[in-house]
Amino acid sequence: MKVTVLSGGVGGARFLSGLVPLADVTVVGNVGDDVDVLGLHVSPDLDSILYTLAGLADEERGWGRAGETWNALGTVSELGGEDWFRLGDLDLGLHLVRTEALRSGETLSSVTTRFARALGLDATLLPATDDRLRTWIATAAGEFAFQEWFVARSHKDDVDGLRYEGAEAARPAPGVLEALAEAELIVFAPSNPYVSIHPILAVEPIRAAVEARTVPAIAVSPLIGGRAVKGPADRMLRRLAGGTAPLQVTECYKGLIDALVLDEADSPSGLDVRPIVTRTLMVDDDARRRLAETVLDAAGAPA
Ligand code: GDP
Ligand code: CA
Repeated sequence: MKVTVLSGGVGGARFLSGLVPLADVTVVGNVGDDVDVLGLHVSPDLDSILYTLAGLADEERGWGRAGETWNALGTVSELGGEDWFRLGDLDLGLHLVRTEALRSGETLSSVTTRFARALGLDATLLPATDDRLRTWIATAAGEFAFQEWFVARSHKDDVDGLRYEGAEAARPAPGVLEALAEAELIVFAPSNPYVSIHPILAVEPIRAAVEARTVPAIAVSPLIGGRAVKGPADRMLRRLAGGTAPLQVTECYKGLIDALVLDEADSPSGLDVRPIVTRTLMVDDDARRRLAETVLDAAGAPA
């Protein structure tokens, strides 16, 4: 079955590692988190997906590569360089190659495709757009670029609003609209709605393609018992949507989904899309696989 998945970084990547062995998967990844550090172009969400699907991710830390060392960053600190964004030695190699490719005129989607092939991924991975798109976070302390809010300020400021700079002019990367048109199922990964999925949907032709779908679209909730497994999704939903129940998750995706996969710990009350209740904590490979099977089953496919 052809499945197109909209995905952020870690939550999306965990889900994808269960799904990819079971289906023909194209991932449309968030680039709103992308950041330029030390002259390098970093795409944290695409990289979380690459590393996770290639079996290279540090599952304990929850981001970056396993067996990582930090020597280069140590030198950066010694020399008074920009060291707030943590780039490990293994990780740096990828950023060097990507940055050089982008500088010589290659598109982000082209270089991402090359990396996916080089790392042996069994899925197609596309950035939502090759154009510049950046998430900005409005808080009482001012507006911050996403990584400044998330990493440098440890996402401690409450979020009053979001802006996806460049989204209006951004065109879907080559292959994205085709993947949505050919999909037999569209999935919204258990990612942060505001900072992972909305930046993708802010690319208007992508949103329009999902709205005009003729196949089921299913979202997997990133909340369990009304709480994020990790990160600020629950705080954002409480403040921006008025609660952390499945209802508020579906409100983030109005008109865009037909079903929501929610955890047994949550209540489907008030939902106007089909609830699919299961265990959604992706503790290990088995749990990831079972969650992916549930989603495929719900779409009417033999898993
Ligand atoms: P990021 O871009 O790296 O922040 O990752 P995503 O946006 O893709 O995923 C972050 C979300 O994943 C958080 O809101 C978490 O609650 C969610 N998440 C992480 N692990 C799990 C899990 O095991 N089950 C579910 N349902 N959600 C998870
Ligand atoms: Ca992210």
